[in-house]
Amino acid sequence: MNFIQECVIKKETDIAVVGGGIIGLLTACLLAEQGREVTIFDQSDLARESSWAGGGILTPLYPWRYPDPVNQLAFRSQLIYPHLVQELYKHTGIDSQYSEGGMFINKIDIDEVGYQWLDKHHIDYMDGGEVTAKNLSLRNADFLYLPKIAQVRNPRFAQALEKRIQQLGVKVESQCQVNRLVYENSIFYLDTNKGKVSAEQLVISAGAWSANLLNDLGISLPVKPVRGQMLLFKAEPNYLSSIILSEGHYIIPRQDGRVLVGSTMEDVGFNKETTIEAKEMLESFVAKTLPELQRYPIEKHWAGLRPSSPEGIPFIMKHPNFNNLFINTGHFRNGVVMAPASAELLVDLMLGNKPIINDLPFRSIIN
Ligand SMILES: Cc1cc2nc3c(=O)[nH]c(=O)nc-3n(C[C@H](O)[C@H](O)[C@H](O)COP(=O)(O)OP(=O)(O)OC[C@H]3O[C@@H](n4cnc5c(N)ncnc54)[C@H](O)[C@@H]3O)c2cc1C
Repeated sequence: MNFIQECVIKKETDIAVVGGGIIGLLTACLLAEQGREVTIFDQSDLARESSWAGGGILTPLYPWRYPDPVNQLAFRSQLIYPHLVQELYKHTGIDSQYSEGGMFINKIDIDEVGYQWLDKHHIDYMDGGEVTAKNLSLRNADFLYLPKIAQVRNPRFAQALEKRIQQLGVKVESQCQVNRLVYENSIFYLDTNKGKVSAEQLVISAGAWSANLLNDLGISLPVKPVRGQMLLFKAEPNYLSSIILSEGHYIIPRQDGRVLVGSTMEDVGFNKETTIEAKEMLESFVAKTLPELQRYPIEKHWAGLRPSSPEGIPFIMKHPNFNNLFINTGHFRNGVVMAPASAELLVDLMLGNKPIINDLPFRSIIN
């Protein structure tokens, strides 16, 4: 029996989503809500890679440094998030800890272009000196305060999505690595470590690993891993209420008092090890920016692999050479904030609906 015969005999799915990070989970969720039969495949457990490792800040850092398409997806997602997390809570009982605690940005990071961008997009801001924040050793007057910036606790958000997709009947194949893709007679065949599967439609949302998978189909996608390391401090509840962004690094408070400090940008391939150098660099950032935080113990140090793409513009598209191949990847530093709009856009393309955002920028670089 050949490979394809085996696939057909074993099992089939209407839509196979490869990669169960936040991008794949949200895509599967929207498809299932539209009554589609979906199976999601992940080589690990769901959302244990970049989507777990990230910070959950719901804006690009220094958004004026990004091209418009990134901000378009971010703006659209920012509208979706409050309702989405409420719906997820209603259905699953899992609180994604969405909060609009605002963000302090060091004024030295904001140039004329930054101020113009904030004004043009009607983003509220005020001088940090006007904000009285409790328990902060931050020099508020050195910062600009953006009160509407929100965050979500990304691992909780992913847990809620995981529960929701199961309620909606999405089949989950975790610990199931897709090793090879074959395309024949307009059907995709997936060779996995748990067996062979055929699919009418295929969605690639495999984050930093997406390019490897697409290679099998002769597609070269400029997506590669960029390592980011984080430290987690165990402080007290309400220790800090706002995100702090300074000289490219950030401090993110969670509701239970834990505080994340990040991050690094390292081109080291698929290596997720943590390093002493990164830990020392992040510690010295804390010493300079918020010395008070040093009183608290470091609970964890981890690394994740961001799916980088040129200029951070993700690929959200139907592939021109395959009628039933869809791609949703390359969200780089902004996958959490861009996820709801990215999933919405891809699902519109899959269902033939008029996309709410012009999809051209998200399909123009592929060869
Ligand atoms: C340190 C750090 C901080 C960040 N902070 C933020 C932030 O504050 N805000 C923000 O918006 N974004 C942030 N990000 C970026 C964000 O986390 C990512 O852009 C986003 O999580 C990408 O989601 P994804 O679903 O595409 O990828 P992933 O979460 O990496 O998911 C890809 C999935 O595909 C699976 N997979 C891969 N290959 C295969 C295969 N062959 N077979 C089966 N399964 C496969 C993997 O196991 C994985 O679960 C941060 C990232 C890092 C690392």
